[in-house]
Amino acid sequence: MSKAYPDQEIWFFTGSQDLYGEETLRQVAEQSQEVAAALDASGDVPAKVVWKPVLKDSEAIRRAMLDANADDKVLGVVTWMHTFSPAKMWITGLDLLRKPLLHLHTQANVELPWDTIDFDFMNLNQAAHGDREYAYIATRLGLARTTVSGHVSNPAVTARIGTWVRAAAGWQAAQDLVLVRFGDNMRNVAVTEGDKTEAEIRLGVSVNTWGVNDLVAAVEAVDDATVDALVAEYEELYDVVPELRAGGERHESLRYAARQEAALEAFLTERGAKAFTTNFEDLGELRQLPGLAVQRLMGKGYGFGAEGDWKTAVLVRVAKVMGAGLPGGASLMEDYTYDLTPGAEKILGAHMLEICPSLTTSKPRVEIHPLGIGGKEDPVRMVFDTDPGVGVVVSLADMRERFRLTANVVDVVPPTADLPHLPVARAVWEPRPDFTTSSECWLTAGGAHHTVLSTAVGIEAWEIFAELARTELLVIDEATTRRGFADQVRWNQVYYRVAQGF
Ligand code: MN
Repeated sequence: MSKAYPDQEIWFFTGSQDLYGEETLRQVAEQSQEVAAALDASGDVPAKVVWKPVLKDSEAIRRAMLDANADDKVLGVVTWMHTFSPAKMWITGLDLLRKPLLHLHTQANVELPWDTIDFDFMNLNQAAHGDREYAYIATRLGLARTTVSGHVSNPAVTARIGTWVRAAAGWQAAQDLVLVRFGDNMRNVAVTEGDKTEAEIRLGVSVNTWGVNDLVAAVEAVDDATVDALVAEYEELYDVVPELRAGGERHESLRYAARQEAALEAFLTERGAKAFTTNFEDLGELRQLPGLAVQRLMGKGYGFGAEGDWKTAVLVRVAKVMGAGLPGGASLMEDYTYDLTPGAEKILGAHMLEICPSLTTSKPRVEIHPLGIGGKEDPVRMVFDTDPGVGVVVSLADMRERFRLTANVVDVVPPTADLPHLPVARAVWEPRPDFTTSSECWLTAGGAHHTVLSTAVGIEAWEIFAELARTELLVIDEATTRRGFADQVRWNQVYYRVAQGF
């Protein structure tokens, strides 16, 4: 099976010590290679797992961690103490480690060999206490880490390790993310603002602004052959309405949308950018608000936020990377309006135009309609319904002294009826645990109206991502109660201030 991150690696470190003698250490090496190979062979684990020689002293551990830090291929490291490995040896190395860490608490055997067990076996298979010694020092050092317990033949174990790899890939994608903003935020909007310098310190993302007229010039420079090729692709992939097709009376609008897509992609590629924002209040000489172009670029893996919302653009990009190769997708989403039928409450999410087609397996329609805001030409857009299934909506808000992620696990459902007059892509969902609890908790958290809707990766990946970022995450799911949630918000106010030091 091909890996979602074929060029990236997880390094597998096994801890031991010199005390055991050659024969035991040989078995430690052999058996740890088998564990690493089992992880590498698992379809759940989306990067190459590379076994490294057994670590037996502090200098080797220090060197191993520095090498992992220095190698751009390395998404993260897995550690396992097959035998006892006195943990003072791990202090210097773990303190230097800058990559995501997973502590795998496992052992070579599944069943305990009751009939044959002797003390040689006990000497070799000591993870039950070796990993406790190691975890003590990891906890004492205050390391952000994920702990996974169980045998690697258990699919639940490889699934969790796979989710950690995905979160580590999302983290790495944030670390070197370049985000292009065309203009600033929508005027007077609060929650889309934020501290871009702090975002670079916390998440690694580099957020900078370009004048929209730089993009206008790029749009005008796109050659006709490029436009022809994109239009042909649209007509093949989507149900393009007749008025937009070649020969249709509004075909020029579709060609302009293609011009925008080509220009935007080239502009971002030139700057090494994987995320961007637009602002309908600041379109310069652009003739349409980019709709189809933005949808297409999200479909190609770019992060996007509307109205200058760079924080949501970061989330969309991270979700794209974490969900690579999985069914489902990720998109900018906005809580728009409700069905408040008692007991069957639903949220209709959409945006002006910019919803990513990765959310559907159906064939989107490409249509053109007036926007009713912004005073530009009618924009072209894809229209579709999001596939039903479990998803998570996540927002990122700047709470002044920290960033807060708020997440809600939701069940995307089919629309109750057709929506023949709604000319935008959308999603309809029922939030967990129920509408009232979800919306009241979301408002208590001050979560944003813009989110990423991810149907490819679930809440576990976001939990690990938040841990790696050392960023607050408030989760609303089937276990949430209003009282417990309000308490958590209150306690977090204290924790996140104290945890940052003074
Ligand atoms: Mn919006």
